[in-house]
Amino acid sequence: TLQIAHRVQAIKPSPTLAVTARAAAMRAAGHDIVGLGAGEPDFDTPHHIKEAAINAINKGYTKYTPVDGIPALKQAVIKKFARENQLEYNLKQVIVSCGGKQAFYNMAQALLNPGDEAIIPAPYWVSYPDMVMLAGAEPVIVSANIQHGFKITPKQLEVAITDKTRLFVINSPSNPTGVHYSAKELAELGEILIQYPKIVVATDDMYEHILWEGNPFKNILNLCPALYDRTVVLNGVSKAYAMTGWRIGYAAGPEKLIQKMETIQSQSTSNPTSISQYAALAALEGDQAGIQAMVKVFKERHDFVLESLRKINGVECLPCQGTFYIFPNMQGTMDRLGFKTDIEFGEFLIEKAGVALVPGSAFGAPGHMRISFATSMENLKTAMERLHNTLNA
Ligand code: PLP
Repeated sequence: TLQIAHRVQAIKPSPTLAVTARAAAMRAAGHDIVGLGAGEPDFDTPHHIKEAAINAINKGYTKYTPVDGIPALKQAVIKKFARENQLEYNLKQVIVSCGGKQAFYNMAQALLNPGDEAIIPAPYWVSYPDMVMLAGAEPVIVSANIQHGFKITPKQLEVAITDKTRLFVINSPSNPTGVHYSAKELAELGEILIQYPKIVVATDDMYEHILWEGNPFKNILNLCPALYDRTVVLNGVSKAYAMTGWRIGYAAGPEKLIQKMETIQSQSTSNPTSISQYAALAALEGDQAGIQAMVKVFKERHDFVLESLRKINGVECLPCQGTFYIFPNMQGTMDRLGFKTDIEFGEFLIEKAGVALVPGSAFGAPGHMRISFATSMENLKTAMERLHNTLNA
């Protein structure tokens, strides 16, 4: 019998991709399913970005590039950090990877040893715990419930820290909750972290730009610059520029760590796709107006979905400050209808309502469901009507 490595035994395939696949399979079998599982903008990649890629092909930029990205793109990333985040980096502190996912993966591989602990606030992005486990380390989940706005307190962070803690992960605005930490909250977390010099902070700013007006983006380094030497900032073009398929993410941080991330990349994937790098360069350096237009549409959809969800008997739902996800607590509805787990409930919704949502347990928050509003208003209206008809009957 075929032996599989111990390393992968505890790892699950991404549940969000699984829901999308399940909805697609049901649809292929002739069922009418509205999929609200997607983790990507439904907008097309802006024209000028596609043009840059086409030009790159025509110019023959179709060969290997430096492992950590073409210098022009790294410079654009450095300028982006200076311009938008007031953060200064040099070329050796920056790496371009195959999506934000690979940036985080490389960081976990370069940083963590077996026995190390990584503190991950829940609800979390599905991949953090598994990437930590693939590095042999242990995810330590700190749960923030809906009463606390899905944000952990400094006290909770402090209690979770041990001498084995090597990494603290923060993702704001958050997938799956859509909430973001205020400047004050970040400063308070920073005050704890500053006391533990062995902890590296990973700030995943992937949804930085998908934030409604009146909620200026800050990351923990803006509030706590003393953490600079041990903070990795992770970001990418996937969500802000509707470029999920292009696979370009990037990270900036301490030179020593970034250089080791590059070594790992050099022995695994090599450079991210050359053509995508030219597209990402155009995204970062070009007109940024597309982002605001997209955010405006997401906000309108958010308002509609929030209001609709609150009309479902047993649902408690917080407004989001950004992203294209919302994360209602549906425990009351589940209890009322006799569902024991959100997985069962999710199955029921696909089968009986024809609506695909991702169960909260995938994000470390059972009893919730993640709804992506990265789909048309028409689809959202249909989905909400179906949920009302099925759940309020
Ligand atoms: N970080 C968060 C919080 C995400 O939600 C995602 C994508 O879903 C990523 C990182 C990874 O993005 P990419 O597609 O660039 O790998």
